[in-house]
Amino acid sequence: MAHSQKLSPETLAELRKRYRAERERRVRPDGPRQYVGADAEFGYYAADPYTGETAQREPVQDRVDVAVIGGGFGGVLAGARLRRQGVERIRVIERGGDFGGTWYWNRYPGIHCDIESHVYLPMLDETGYVPEWKYAPGEEIRRHAVRIAEKFDLYADALFSTSVTTLTWDDTCEAWIVTTNRGDKFRATYVVTATGTLSELKLPGIPGIEKFKGHTFHTSRWDYAYTGGTPDGGLNGLANKRVGVVGTGATGIQVVPKLAEDAGHLYVFQRTPSSVDVRDNRRTSARDVGADRQGWASERRDNFLRIVSGETAEEDLVADQWTSSAGLLEKLLPSFRRPRDRAAFEAAYEVADAIKMNEMRARVEEIVTDPDTAEKLKPWYRYACKRPTFSDLYLQTFNRNNVTLVDTADTHGIERMTERGVVVGDIEYDLDCLVFATGFSVGISGIHSGRLPVHGRGGNRLQDVWAARGPRTLHGFTSNGFPNLIQLGAVQSAASVNYTHVLDEHAVHAAALVAAAEAKDALIEPSCEAEDTWIGALAEDAPDHEWFHAECTPGYYNGEGRGRPNGPIAYPHGALAFHELLRQWREESMDQILKPRTPGRA
Ligand code: NDP
Repeated sequence: MAHSQKLSPETLAELRKRYRAERERRVRPDGPRQYVGADAEFGYYAADPYTGETAQREPVQDRVDVAVIGGGFGGVLAGARLRRQGVERIRVIERGGDFGGTWYWNRYPGIHCDIESHVYLPMLDETGYVPEWKYAPGEEIRRHAVRIAEKFDLYADALFSTSVTTLTWDDTCEAWIVTTNRGDKFRATYVVTATGTLSELKLPGIPGIEKFKGHTFHTSRWDYAYTGGTPDGGLNGLANKRVGVVGTGATGIQVVPKLAEDAGHLYVFQRTPSSVDVRDNRRTSARDVGADRQGWASERRDNFLRIVSGETAEEDLVADQWTSSAGLLEKLLPSFRRPRDRAAFEAAYEVADAIKMNEMRARVEEIVTDPDTAEKLKPWYRYACKRPTFSDLYLQTFNRNNVTLVDTADTHGIERMTERGVVVGDIEYDLDCLVFATGFSVGISGIHSGRLPVHGRGGNRLQDVWAARGPRTLHGFTSNGFPNLIQLGAVQSAASVNYTHVLDEHAVHAAALVAAAEAKDALIEPSCEAEDTWIGALAEDAPDHEWFHAECTPGYYNGEGRGRPNGPIAYPHGALAFHELLRQWREESMDQILKPRTPGRA
């Protein structure tokens, strides 16, 4: 139906006008400064609602081969890949009480991953596990992280409920000194940082937020002691309660249907509606995914990455909304290629985009019965301006009598909070509880925010060096002046919507670096020239997204409306090409960054 739509130049011009007006309603002069960290007056970081009281233990003061900072999928995969390379002493240090990272902390009701589980869950071939659902619930994903950690014996040396406080390079011993908030002080020959991209919670800096006398928490620290129930629902503690939720991103759209099932009344405070596509979750069998064949999972994962990277593939194995929208996504993720005929490119993209977004708005109209509510739920921006979401429950929730949608776009979000609740326009909404589904400082990990200070050769702080000269790495992993430090993350490397795939490729690379250094009794440290060459290559082909983001509704994709992505410079040709580049580099050039160790070192 949608594809037969005729879109006249007038219709497109109208759409552009509407998108601009909707953007203007939301742009705020304070941009990213509108948010505050969640550890200020709320102290969310101090509390771990899933592990309870932290068990006492003696501080460790030994030496390990590799310290892996972070026990999410990045850390677990790094540990597994290092183990496969024969590394013995691997110590994962993790703030949470167990492995899982984002899936440890995020246990909100309704939590699922919206990337197909058979491509999202890593090391399925190696563990023999076959997911039960096309889109797995959070608990199944968390357990899979634990499964990998158990299989590769990562519990033996792990430190949980522990935060690294400093990393200091000791030139005499040619090792890192790692200190933690639990009094640990130990040496590690290598450090791998896997501190995540969704680990720094954020809250809106709403005036009066601290005055509210009701209960509040962030979705990534769900308070089941208050709500009752489990991630599957049954939140009996909310019966008869007036509950508010702020945030309608990928988290909000999963949590809202579950809150609505049990709350006395639910107020959804929306600033920008998400585009909510079909989800079509279902149980799957091993036969459905061909799991009887060796290598089935990596083949499927590669196939997904090819398609969402805009490459052709003989077959679309996953066949879902991500892969069917790949033509659109390819223009944004992971790169915007520089088109030869830019005008033609933009025109073609605009039409395809308008068709898709008309489909999204039509879906709202079909599902939501109250026309006023439906109007407010329609997303008026281009598809790739905001992260797409998928649900067969969210829009339907607004047909319930106990749910009210409160549109806050005209006031740029919730105006203020009082002791009793939330104020929007002239109305004060009295609430017993307000849930913040307001996300994270995406892409900012402890190592970049300064929460985790890193001192390299000569005591130089990584944050200072990077603040002065910009991030400097080879391939995003290693930096001059910081020997044997391997960073996993999105800075100067390549990302993809299936982030665990990217992390696994990065983990393989990190483990190969360590194995090569061990084999040659060498230090891993790129030269300044190698960094220059890499940074030059990134800049030369830097993607041209500004024209697109300048017209987008505000969000973390465009620095809250500033017109440019606030993320770091990434490899411009996408994850598929980046993984190939790494493979080739390992075969041909890895020795170039291996430096002899000092003979007779301590
Ligand atoms: P987001 O940052 O995506 O969304 C935050 C929400 O809070 C937005 O709707 C935002 O509105 C709203 N908000 C912020 N401030 C205010 C305010 N003052 N008043 C009203 N509303 C406000 O956070 P999420 O937790 O949804 O997602 C975080 C990350 O986690 C994303 O990268 C997402 O992709 C990922 N994720 C992935 C999932 C998966 O299945 N793979 C599932 C869940 C999350 P506005 O848009 O107007 O700024």
